[in-house]
Amino acid sequence: MQEINNICRAFLWSGDYFSHRPGNVSWEHVCTPKGEGGLGLRRITLWNVAALGRYVWAIEAKKDSLWLRWINAVYIKGAEWWSYVPTQDSSWYWKRICEVKEQMKMIYTAQQLTNMQKFSIQECYKKLTGENEKVNWSKFVWNRLTLPKHRFICWLVMKERLNIALRLRNMGIIDDPLCRLCGTEDETHLHIFFNCPFSLEVCKSISKWMQFELFGDSIDSSCRKVLTSRRSRFQKQSLLAVLGAAIYFIWLARNDAVWNSKIDIIRYHVHRIQKVCIDRIYSVIPYKITNRDKSWLRDRANSMMICN
Ligand SMILES: [Zn+2]
Repeated sequence: MQEINNICRAFLWSGDYFSHRPGNVSWEHVCTPKGEGGLGLRRITLWNVAALGRYVWAIEAKKDSLWLRWINAVYIKGAEWWSYVPTQDSSWYWKRICEVKEQMKMIYTAQQLTNMQKFSIQECYKKLTGENEKVNWSKFVWNRLTLPKHRFICWLVMKERLNIALRLRNMGIIDDPLCRLCGTEDETHLHIFFNCPFSLEVCKSISKWMQFELFGDSIDSSCRKVLTSRRSRFQKQSLLAVLGAAIYFIWLARNDAVWNSKIDIIRYHVHRIQKVCIDRIYSVIPYKITNRDKSWLRDRANSMMICN
């Protein structure tokens, strides 16, 4: 299981199955549900406990099967299962099931297991991981109309885990913490996306195009503006998708400045954001939308910036 985790982790952060490159977010946080700020991957060691928990339940609930009769004859021999301890010479897998029983004791009583008609691995897993605090930005990051690669960058922004200059300086990797796009202030998450003159220009054009003051002074306030507006559900989702795309392309522009020492004109970035969003929204319109929304979308498509 540790090896499977290592492969998944390497693949997420480097695209390869073997890599020691450190990730931007700890694996434990990656493996929490999306609503709690993670990527929603499963913690496989706990899932394994939950899956083996099914055997613990089957023994406790005295289900009848050939395996159970065999287990009773060879190991348990009529002893009380809940307090049963395996002998030293028991097989590896039997000791493992007994270990799982000890873990199950923390979340279930013997009575609860006995009363259960069916055992749900999913439910047991949820109990093992416990409930954590919900984050208020999952609606924005995991919006259906947002492109998956944009979602991933937005997720890193919300976790404040992009490799921005200030973070790299604090890690001792670089000396200069200044913003690569304007060179006047420290490059922080807030600065790149909401205070940098470059981004402000991009955001201004985008807001004008959407006919909505989309950008507040942070992602939080921008999302709140959208979600508390009197727009239809479809328009709100579209606005959040545009916000996500703007974040993604500003980050791309910043990387272009770092790695290729070039900054394209604002018009070019705005055009790219518009084109990607319109294409995406047309390809995944999630449900029947009203004629009003249809014409709103058509107007947005027709008023995109021209850029050769
Ligand atoms: Zn800047």
